[in-house]
Amino acid sequence: MEDCFGGLEAGGTKFVCAVGTGPSDLRERTEFPTTSPGETIRSAVAFFNACSSHAKLKAIGIGSFGPIDLHPDSPTFGCITSTPKQGWRNFDIVGAIRSGAGVSRVAFDTDVNAAALGEARWGAALDLDTFVYLTIGTGIGGGAMVNGRLLHGLLHPEMGHMRVPHDRRADPFAGCCPWHGDCLEGLASGEAMRRRWGMPGHLIPPGHAAWSLEVNYLASALVNLICSMSPQRLILGGGVMQGLDLPALHDAVRELLNGYLQAAPILDHISEYIVRPRLGANAGVLGAIALAQSAANP
Ligand code: ZN
Repeated sequence: MEDCFGGLEAGGTKFVCAVGTGPSDLRERTEFPTTSPGETIRSAVAFFNACSSHAKLKAIGIGSFGPIDLHPDSPTFGCITSTPKQGWRNFDIVGAIRSGAGVSRVAFDTDVNAAALGEARWGAALDLDTFVYLTIGTGIGGGAMVNGRLLHGLLHPEMGHMRVPHDRRADPFAGCCPWHGDCLEGLASGEAMRRRWGMPGHLIPPGHAAWSLEVNYLASALVNLICSMSPQRLILGGGVMQGLDLPALHDAVRELLNGYLQAAPILDHISEYIVRPRLGANAGVLGAIALAQSAANP
């Protein structure tokens, strides 16, 4: 039997599981909605156990929604921590997958750091060592690679909760983040769009005022990230991005920076500087497979 790797993209809305060794070798893939921890983990374990019968899993990588505990020395390493999501608070996802699937080597990171690693290995960040991966969907999250390593630091980045200017005359919506109200996620996530306009982002037509507001909030966030992290590229995924006019975002970022950063990628090639993911819908689960490979071959 040939060695291969398991990947689990544990999202707040759905779980995606796959086995393989990369984008050209994804042997099995499945996805199912995120319900209770018991039911959801049972489905994931059943998938990996079925795959194990014809390919030995050398390691499993988990890219998880969060916040999560990533510190190997912590007694709660491998747990999802302060999520408002019913039943998942303090749930030991690493322990549950390790014992259920019978695979001792389980790598663990945020869903967005995993996606960033996948893009670095096979996608839109192939040639880079410092970049940001941001997803704008139901929620907003960001991962980063800095000097060739995924950024963890104190906990892990929580880019969705950065503060951005909120002009309440132009946008009276109070924001929907349960922790902060009008943080970036509270103002610009898919959930914020749905609550502000009474319809989900994918039903809002091009040219609607929703999109210029969205461009403004995202441009503020990207400028903050550019100025604080000096990324060589920004990769923007997630459902909301599918409806967003990317060139309008390029223009808004350049306008906010106002010529201050004399860097050719921003001044002359911004369409290659702020880009969409190249791994598409599989970015998360491929990133989880990349995490597993890194754990097996450090
Ligand atoms: Zn927030």
